[in-house]
Amino acid sequence: MQERDLVIIGGGPGGAAAAMVAARAGLKVIVFEKGPHGRDKVCGDGLTPRAVGALHELGIDLAGAHRIDGLRMIAGKKTRELAWPTTARFPNHGAVWPRRLLDGHLIDAAIAAGAEVRFETEALPVLDDDRVVGADAGGERFIAPLTILAAGAQGMAAKIVGAERDPDEPFGLAIRAYAPTPRHAERHLEACLSLRDQHGTPVPGYGWMFPAGDGTVNIGVGALSTMKGFKQLNLNRLLDQYAAIVREPWSLGGYIDRPRAWRLPMSSSKRSGPGWVAIGDAAGFVNPMNGEGIDYALESGMLAVEQYLVDVPNAPANYDRVVGERFDAFLRTGRRFSFIIGHPWLLKPGLRLAVGTQTTADITLAVMGNLIDSATPGAAGRVMRVADTTLRWADPLLRRTRATS
Ligand SMILES: Cc1cc2nc3c(=O)[nH]c(=O)nc-3n(C[C@H](O)[C@H](O)[C@H](O)COP(=O)(O)OP(=O)(O)OC[C@H]3O[C@@H](n4cnc5c(N)ncnc54)[C@H](O)[C@@H]3O)c2cc1C
Repeated sequence: MQERDLVIIGGGPGGAAAAMVAARAGLKVIVFEKGPHGRDKVCGDGLTPRAVGALHELGIDLAGAHRIDGLRMIAGKKTRELAWPTTARFPNHGAVWPRRLLDGHLIDAAIAAGAEVRFETEALPVLDDDRVVGADAGGERFIAPLTILAAGAQGMAAKIVGAERDPDEPFGLAIRAYAPTPRHAERHLEACLSLRDQHGTPVPGYGWMFPAGDGTVNIGVGALSTMKGFKQLNLNRLLDQYAAIVREPWSLGGYIDRPRAWRLPMSSSKRSGPGWVAIGDAAGFVNPMNGEGIDYALESGMLAVEQYLVDVPNAPANYDRVVGERFDAFLRTGRRFSFIIGHPWLLKPGLRLAVGTQTTADITLAVMGNLIDSATPGAAGRVMRVADTTLRWADPLLRRTRATS
C-alpha cells in the first residue's frame, strides 16, 4: 500500500490541471492515465477565450496553438462573422489546439511541476464503507485523503462512486475528423447552426470547421439528446452530409483518419462524496449551448485542489459548493434551453432571432460561450438573467413536453 496527498484518476485537461496546481503547492500527487503519453481525445479542439483564460491562469504557453479571433455563425442563408467579446475577465482570443498536442503539453507541465504520472495504467476508486480512500492501479493500492475523479465521460470509475449521468437530463453526441484545406490558417471558427438529419429534421446542435493552422481543419457535427429521433441519428451520415456542404467553400480534402464519435456528458447524479470529488466531464461539466468542456475541466480541476489546500477534510463539500456557485446556474439554464431547441418548430424561429442582426448574434456568442463578465454584464448578461428566470419557471413544462417524450 502506498500513500500520497492526492490521487487523480485520468490525465486529460482536468486531471492535468489539478495535478499541476497540487504539485506546484508541494503536494505528493499521482495521476493514473489509462492511455499512453500523447493519447488522443475525440474533440473539436476549440478553445474559447474562457478556456484560454484558464490556460493563462495555469501559466500555459499557447505558442503551439493556432490563435482564433472569433466565430463565423451560419444559419440557413445568413452568415455572421463575429469577434469574441471584449471583457475585462477573459482575453479576446481563442485557439484551436489538437488534443493530442494540448493534452500532451498539459500533462508534461504537470510532470515538470513535480506530479508523478503513470501512463497506460487504469485506476479504480477504493471504497471503505461509503468513503473513497484512494485507488487501485497496476496491482497496487494508493491511499490519499482525497481522490479526484477526472476520468472523462462516465464509465466504470464513476459507477463505483455513484457519479453516473442523470437519465432525466440531456447529453450530447458528436463526431469529428481531420481533413486538409487551404483555409487551415484562418482565424475564425465556423459553426453551422442549421443542420438537418437524413429525414430533413432540424438538429439541435451544429456542424463545425475549426481551422488548426497546420494544414488541416477539425470538421465535426454534434447533436443534443433532446431531439426527436436522437436514438436513430446516424452521426457518420450527418458528418458526411455536412462535409458535402463545406467541401467546395473550404476546398476540403478527404478525411485523414476514420471519423470518431464520443459522448458529451451534461449531468452527474453526484460530483463529490466522502474522500472524493469529480471534475470536468466526470462531473457532467459540458456547456449544453456549445459543447465546450475543456475549460470546465481546467477550471473545476483548479477549484478542487484549491479547496483541498484550504481544508482537507471538508474539501469535497466545499468544492461542491464553489463549483456549483460558478457553474450550476449557467449549465442548468443551458440544459433547459436544450429542451426548447429539441423542438424543430422552436429551433427555427430561435435561430432566426439569434443571428437576425449583428447585435443579437454578438449576444448569442457571449451567452453561448459563457463569456459574460459579471462585473460588466451588459446586454448579454441581461438576456442571460431573463432566460435563467423564465426557464426556471418553465422547467416542469419543458420536461413534460420534451420532443423525445
Ligand atoms: C466530438 C467532440 C467534440 C468536442 N469539441 C470540443 C471543443 O471543441 N472544445 C471543448 O472545449 N470541448 C469539446 N468537447 C468536450 C471535451 O472533449 C471534454 O469536455 C474534455 O475532454 C473534458 O476533459 P476531462 O479532462 O474532463 O476528460 P477527458 O479529456 O476525457 O480525459 C479523461 C482521461 O481519463 C482517462 N481515464 C478514463 N478512465 C480511467 C481510469 N479508470 N483510469 C485511468 N485513466 C482513465 C482517459 O483515458 C482520459 O485520458 C468535445 C467532445 C466531443 C466528444
